[in-house]
Amino acid sequence: MPKRFFDPILILFVFSLAILVCAVFLFPNITNAFTDKDNAFSYLEEQMSFGPRTPGSEAHEKFLNWVTQKLSAQGWDVDLQKGNYKGHEITNVIASRQNLAADPDAAWIMLGAHYDSRLSADADSVSANQTQPVPGANDGASGVAILLELAERLPKESDKNIWLVFFDGEDQGNIVGWDEWCIGSKMMAQYLEKQDRRPDKVVVIDMVGDKDLQIFREKNSDKALTDEIWSTAEKEGLSNIFQDKEKYSIYDDHIPFLQIGIPAVDLIDFDYPAWHTLADDIQNVSSDSLAAVEQVLYAWLTKK
Ligand SMILES: [Zn+2]
Repeated sequence: MPKRFFDPILILFVFSLAILVCAVFLFPNITNAFTDKDNAFSYLEEQMSFGPRTPGSEAHEKFLNWVTQKLSAQGWDVDLQKGNYKGHEITNVIASRQNLAADPDAAWIMLGAHYDSRLSADADSVSANQTQPVPGANDGASGVAILLELAERLPKESDKNIWLVFFDGEDQGNIVGWDEWCIGSKMMAQYLEKQDRRPDKVVVIDMVGDKDLQIFREKNSDKALTDEIWSTAEKEGLSNIFQDKEKYSIYDDHIPFLQIGIPAVDLIDFDYPAWHTLADDIQNVSSDSLAAVEQVLYAWLTKK
């Protein structure tokens, strides 16, 4: 037998490799340690490079091309749901992998985030700024970045049907010619209401990039679904971010789904001084915050 077979370094290497392979197979959550927070943040930066993704803008169009390409490249089926609201074209982006689930009765989970930026920074203290669009680093880009990171990291084979939905027209309420909030999610709920089968659970993420991230239980959200997510956060050691108490009652993209009887939850940190101002820009969001929320959702989706 050649001498090299007894090389202790080689044996140690093979032994270590075997342990690592076993660990990854036996404890798939160990791969969660590999969350690439900078990757999620790069998705936020790319959106910001387009400029505010206000309805009808070139940046909005660029976003749609970019997100469609990214999701397709990551192996997701992409459908555009188009509609019209008071003359404005509304486009929701749906990424799905339901064809991969062997079981037609498998749980159907929809995760959603709005991608549009608000046309008017009407909460800005400088009146000249109030006619400008909101940059939307936190209010829009943060939720989208997390969905894209999940799109990349979620295992291709899943025991669930997962939809990642990017809603249009969430953030234009109380603006002349718009009036209403959550147009894209209402359009999606109207479609689902007519279907025999609907998602079992809907999780909406919005404004989850604040540097001082604290997500309180949202009062309109489904209680059992909120419990599930908060319990996952506790197991992941993130109870400092997922605060175990109620604070706000928010009208967000989860409401249209609750109204048609689907359990839905809104994950949002509404304590954000830059909300609807020009300061909702990249300097006021954090890659650590994106990574924490992504970690909880990944664990919730993949652990039994
Ligand atoms: Zn907003």
